[in-house]
Amino acid sequence: MKKVLFMSLLMVLIFTGYGVASKEVTIKGFRYWSSETYTRVVVDVNGPVKFTRNRLSNPARLFFDLKNCRLPKDITPSIPIGDGILKNVRAGQFNTETVRVVLDLQEIENFNVFLLKDPYRLVIDVFGKKKPEPVSEIKKGKGLREIRIVVIDPGHGGRDPGAIGPQGLLEKDVVLSVSKKLGNILRKKYGMKVIYTRKRDVFIPLEERTAIANSKKADLFISIHANASRQKRVRGIETYILNWTTNREAMRVAARENAISYKKMQQAQSDVQMILQDLARDNKKDESMRLAYNVQSSVVNTLRQDYSKIVNLGVKQALFYVLVGAEMPSILVEISFISNYAEEKRLAKKTYREKIAEAIAEGVKYYISPLKFVKKTSDSI
Ligand SMILES: [Zn+2]
Repeated sequence: MKKVLFMSLLMVLIFTGYGVASKEVTIKGFRYWSSETYTRVVVDVNGPVKFTRNRLSNPARLFFDLKNCRLPKDITPSIPIGDGILKNVRAGQFNTETVRVVLDLQEIENFNVFLLKDPYRLVIDVFGKKKPEPVSEIKKGKGLREIRIVVIDPGHGGRDPGAIGPQGLLEKDVVLSVSKKLGNILRKKYGMKVIYTRKRDVFIPLEERTAIANSKKADLFISIHANASRQKRVRGIETYILNWTTNREAMRVAARENAISYKKMQQAQSDVQMILQDLARDNKKDESMRLAYNVQSSVVNTLRQDYSKIVNLGVKQALFYVLVGAEMPSILVEISFISNYAEEKRLAKKTYREKIAEAIAEGVKYYISPLKFVKKTSDSI
């Protein structure tokens, strides 16, 4: 039921966010990431596309009819997968204006589908059957030894610079540097396996980032970003989890990180408010929230030891596409405002970046060892 609502949410987001397709759309290709429990298939298209989704048995398959769409002859129409969830993906020109994309199923639990833009692509998440977690594990929470794999996601990259500071500092460079430092600490100090969604200045689409985390069966997903505001005086640190929100500033931040306009974000939010409430119970919300609080308070407390005017903006919720579909506790940290002159200056310095990386790692440690909860600061977070 939850998944159905979640799927409806995404469908509404698609139609409110991207409007009605009118021009003929062409298929550009197919991509996929897979593991034993999860497969994400991406259909690249050259414009906004309307589609329907269907599930059939005998043989078991999902199919998506893409309207006003054309499949060029040079595109390979069938890709074998055979990962235990999907047998293969195939496509055909069903009639003059419909392309049918078929996913032949092995064993699945659920699926989600949504459309992203810049460039346009249809993302299909297919979830396989999961083994239930032993009760003792759930009660105890995962210990330090059980949290083995952390995916660190430095925001933006390549042709997407992210936010740009008044002195020209680029978000993509700052977050890559902090991410690498964080990865080194988690690896060396805590013996964790660290996987980066990018290690270089390269463009990685949002859907690929979550797909990497799911297909590598990561235990945690941490996306690192630097914040920006049109009001240059705004400064501070905030940590997000995936959820709906009525907070204007949170929506503005998510709109920027999702590369959609605030207006589209606003419209999508108001249209799906009822459905979105159910999202609160999905997506490992409680664990993500606990991780977010631990990281947020660790960063604020650590920086306050050495720096003045560290503003605690708290833990917030918003619809970040990069977190949609993540199967593990996942957060997005906005490490400071690159748009603020003083914070840009700090972000340009190695010592500040190191402090932030150390503090995020500490936060992860506190999250893993619940007995060592950080003391709450006087601020409400
Ligand atoms: Zn960003």
